[in-house]
Amino acid sequence: MNAYHLVQRKRDGESLTPDEIAAFFTGYATGDVAEYQMAAFLMAVHFRGLSPTELTALVDVMLRSGEVLDLTAVAGVKVDKHSTGGVGDKVSLVLAPLAASLGVVVPMMSGRGLGHSGGTVDKLESIPGFRTDLTVAEFRAQLERLGCALIAQTAEVAPLDRRLYALRDVTATVESIPLIASSIMSKKLAEGIDALVLDVKEGNGAFLPEPEQAEALAQTMIEIGERYGRRVVAVVTAMDRPLGWAIGNALEVEEAVLTLRGEGPPDLREVTIALAAEMLRLAGVAAEDREARERAGRALDDGSALETLRAIVQAQGGNPAVLDDPALLPQAPVRRPIEAERSGFAAAFDVRAIGLAAVELGAGRRALGATIDPGVGFHITVKPGDAVAVGERIGTVYAADPAGAEAAAAAVRAAIRIAAGPPAVATLISRRITAAGVERLAG
Ligand code: URA
Repeated sequence: MNAYHLVQRKRDGESLTPDEIAAFFTGYATGDVAEYQMAAFLMAVHFRGLSPTELTALVDVMLRSGEVLDLTAVAGVKVDKHSTGGVGDKVSLVLAPLAASLGVVVPMMSGRGLGHSGGTVDKLESIPGFRTDLTVAEFRAQLERLGCALIAQTAEVAPLDRRLYALRDVTATVESIPLIASSIMSKKLAEGIDALVLDVKEGNGAFLPEPEQAEALAQTMIEIGERYGRRVVAVVTAMDRPLGWAIGNALEVEEAVLTLRGEGPPDLREVTIALAAEMLRLAGVAAEDREARERAGRALDDGSALETLRAIVQAQGGNPAVLDDPALLPQAPVRRPIEAERSGFAAAFDVRAIGLAAVELGAGRRALGATIDPGVGFHITVKPGDAVAVGERIGTVYAADPAGAEAAAAAVRAAIRIAAGPPAVATLISRRITAAGVERLAG
């Protein structure tokens, strides 16, 4: 295998054979392909794409780069959920315990922040003591005992995705249908699931903002799932505004807990319940959508899903007292209000800019292996279509120092366009996509 020639051929738009894809990526795993060669290859894929045969070969090599878990000994239907990435997207923190509290087995393997988007693992690790690096034996035992475990990509399961994910994060190679699809599906297939629910984001805060890109990504992942005999349902949700109010790791944990008490932001609750309903139906826990939604809503309101999260936090070494007292989560020393610059209606959000402003504050990484500041971020309390008055508080910055807070407040103000009249507001949950096709949902 000549790594240089494979990079060159991919750069020039040629298709590689499955053996060549396998050799290149295995070479990266063993150290025969250098980081810079892989970075160049990923950029070539970003521009040239992958043929279906190349994509199948890539998923296969990523999936088999570590242990492929067999969870058949764990009773129950194993259903996971994954999001294609967004800003303020803390759905997994609410959804995993919610689905588990209703009898779905949820083996959830998540990622860290990627580009402008946050990551479930970083959020969980803002809970003092919380371990996302369970061994496979611990993961399995916890699934048997609690029906849910929340872990990071490990050195044992899909280790290649872990390395590629981190490399893509710092080489501007995230925004690619085959790279996102192979990343998500390889780790999900390796974790031993029976079925998967995908939250595919669209809008300017998504990695692939256009509606047709979101659909193509969903369909690509559904096809990969089918090839491996897994049922996959995708729900397309809006990322033309941050989800919920909180952006930033500890702030998002706090908001997830609020939602598990039945008190969270309405949009976060709506997306969570829609995804929970899909999980319950795939697991055979509920027969139809209405029943599934009602059961999910009740488990949020009666505290049963919160109790499942408490058990998970305790089992994974975290301090469960944070669920009762959010002040025990990491706190930023500086708080600064964000005020509307003019009166009118919140018309458009530059969600990517808001995510990047959070990274700039320290909520995400700008370099491979950088440490994050778990306490920093934003609360942004306006939603598309809301009326605002000049000087009205539309959010809060949580920062490490006053200069960072000032810059972040300016970035958020610039990212929210206020128009004179009420704007058209996109539907929060617009489509449901399965192997059978695209179903448009009423707004
Ligand atoms: N989530 C993933 O796991 N991988 C990606 O590439 C993007 C979102």
